[in-house]
Amino acid sequence: MSAVDLRTRLRELARFESAGSPVVSVYLNTEWVDEHQRERARIFVKNALAEARGRRWADGDDLDWIERQGKTLVERAAFEGANGAVLFACGSANLRELFPLRVAFDDTFVVDARPYVRPLAGILDDTPPSLVVFVDGASARLIALDATGVSDETVLQAEVPARHKTGGWAALAESRYQRHLLEHREQHFEAVAAAISAWTDRYDAHHVVLAAEPRAAAVLRKHLPDAVAARIAGVVAGARHESVSVIAERAAGLLARVERQAGVRNVNEALAEAAEGGTAVAGVTATVGAVNRNAVRHLYVLTTFREPGAVCQDCGALQRGVHFTCPFCGRGTRTTELGEALVERVLASGGDVTTLESHRPLAGHGGIVARLRYAA
Ligand SMILES: [Zn+2]
Repeated sequence: MSAVDLRTRLRELARFESAGSPVVSVYLNTEWVDEHQRERARIFVKNALAEARGRRWADGDDLDWIERQGKTLVERAAFEGANGAVLFACGSANLRELFPLRVAFDDTFVVDARPYVRPLAGILDDTPPSLVVFVDGASARLIALDATGVSDETVLQAEVPARHKTGGWAALAESRYQRHLLEHREQHFEAVAAAISAWTDRYDAHHVVLAAEPRAAAVLRKHLPDAVAARIAGVVAGARHESVSVIAERAAGLLARVERQAGVRNVNEALAEAAEGGTAVAGVTATVGAVNRNAVRHLYVLTTFREPGAVCQDCGALQRGVHFTCPFCGRGTRTTELGEALVERVLASGGDVTTLESHRPLAGHGGIVARLRYAA
């Protein structure tokens, strides 16, 4: 599944509610350094399944499916390069899905009427499609990287011009060759730049990371159209003999830092806008109000944010705290965790969601701020 499909699927899952058996959502960290950690993951799945079966929380077939998939993942029989996997199962709605992901996260097992999408939303936002480009004087490698890992790769090889020596004209031949090589080198970088532009469009790459010696990176940069050059997130080391996974891993480290910094910056801007009043609101009460109006364009929320809430079973309006009736339509409500409910609602209405591990000013505003589609 491509990154674009994954994002579309996330919005669909955020809207999904089962009328029959509940949805089982499992987040499994498969980034094991040793056998001890692998054993811990196995036990986590085993205990969660035993509890769900014991309490008859979920459909037996769904739990059997989770057990089989979990076993395959723990034994590393599938998705070897993945550091995490997300599973959703709801047999009564024919929902059985497994997404391998390249980033690790906390093991989580949730049974509810709706899929638990908040961690997945955060991960997809943190790992937008990107392009990693290794380049040297005569070759290049394009690596498409998204939330699931390396989604595509290709090798570009420059034609090496033949070297002709003629009699005593060696010196002249030498200089000719050098000039020829220089011209071809420019052609090589030109061709690589054209390939990068095509792939940037094809994969909707938000960032481009160059893996190259500084000189090669500088020459390539000159050939890139401004729109593509503006997407260069940084340059990392790279050598022709290195494997794709090694280069991709190094680039992923840089991309994670860039995304984290962008998240912090965007939250600071949103908080400043909220303070001025207008295009953003900060704090739980104001955000719940904006979400109820379907006015949120981008929600920023701490991963630790949890609060009891109520959702109207008729009009869907959200409220803080426990309430038995809806303030808008007077019908009955059910309790919900507000953080997850807000994330689902924003995704379902076409907005974006960024989750942050920590952000002191945001914590000071209740852990939540929202940019609006229009001035409040
Ligand atoms: Zn209502």
